[in-house]
Amino acid sequence: MKVPQLNISGQYDSIKKEIDLAVRSVLESGIVINGENVTKIEDALSKYSNCKYGVGVANGSDALYIALKAIGVKEGDYVITTPFTYIATASSIARAGGMPLFVDIESDTYNMDPDKLEECIDASKAIDIPVKAIIPVHLFGQMCKMDKIMEIANRYNLKVVEDCAQVTGAEYQGKKAGSFGDISTFSFYPTKNLAAYGDGGMITTSNPEYEKYCRIFGASGADPKYYHKIVGINSRLDELHAAILNVKMMYLDTWLEDRFRVAHTYQTLFEEYDNLLDKVWLPIKDLFNVKNHREHTFNQYVIQAEDRDELQRYLLKNGIGTNIYYPLCLHLQECFQYLGYKEGDFPIAENATKHVLAIPMYPELTGRMQEYVVSRISQFYQLGRR
Ligand SMILES: *Cc1c(COP(=O)(O)O)cnc(C)c1O
Repeated sequence: MKVPQLNISGQYDSIKKEIDLAVRSVLESGIVINGENVTKIEDALSKYSNCKYGVGVANGSDALYIALKAIGVKEGDYVITTPFTYIATASSIARAGGMPLFVDIESDTYNMDPDKLEECIDASKAIDIPVKAIIPVHLFGQMCKMDKIMEIANRYNLKVVEDCAQVTGAEYQGKKAGSFGDISTFSFYPTKNLAAYGDGGMITTSNPEYEKYCRIFGASGADPKYYHKIVGINSRLDELHAAILNVKMMYLDTWLEDRFRVAHTYQTLFEEYDNLLDKVWLPIKDLFNVKNHREHTFNQYVIQAEDRDELQRYLLKNGIGTNIYYPLCLHLQECFQYLGYKEGDFPIAENATKHVLAIPMYPELTGRMQEYVVSRISQFYQLGRR
């Protein structure tokens, strides 16, 4: 049996007619940039995320960069985020002229630890470091503790940019991802919950000034066309991808429910093997008692495993695809050496990089495929059924 980690064509098969029709109608209309499909997905996703405005952009990385410019991050400003995320979270800060300031994550959610956030802000104040904003990254499908983070942000008068790339549709305490901060960013990269067949992204906000700035900045600073107010960049969501996303948007909630079901099945299967849960560590304690299934949208199903690298090779040999998100913390990346961090600065994030493994996760995953995955993992540790 072959079980890829991600299955793009499998999803396409399930919605082929509608996707083909949507693509054809864009081609036949001749309108491929700034048309009604972009407006439609901007309206749909912003409404869904409980924000007033949506601005389509070329990818999630640009969304972060533009959002930081919109809230006024400039040369010399510090922005706090975590070192256990995709590079774009921190590189967007550097692109805007700012300095990333890292705080460690929680060991059980991989998200920003609010206590460490507060310590970091206090320490920065003590030595007069100008902190401007916070980027909480909602990782793997689950949101940060936004009640605590917003309380801290408000108390210290800091702006909040939610990096929602991995949590489209997720909720925290019943409120949607993207609806907590001043401005939020989404990605439509093929691995995400709502995915294009290529690159795409969106900024959502309820602040009309931020919306206006993002629109102008992403349109090369033009307002109106050919009259440039500021030096911006060209970052657009195109009509083809917007049309595809409009089709997929209708399935988003069903697919998120499917992801939760797949996670449920994994939990059941892992528990069927003797001592397997001493070797691997599953996401979310008490999954069976989670009432609101949007508390974790399982963009990735990430386990922590003993002998992770050998396990990954063993699974690959058995036709099972996995990925390591992320193998190296951002504070240890070559491009951020100038920030002056060293190994040991963020022990929880560093430890996670050594054990995390994303196993196959998508709505189309069948019970039989999942049984195969879990049986091979238990075989690797030479463990039998209970
Ligand atoms: C995917 C991702 C991004 C960037 O999105 P792109 O569309 O690939 O540029 C940013 N942050 C996080 C946490 C992501 O997972």
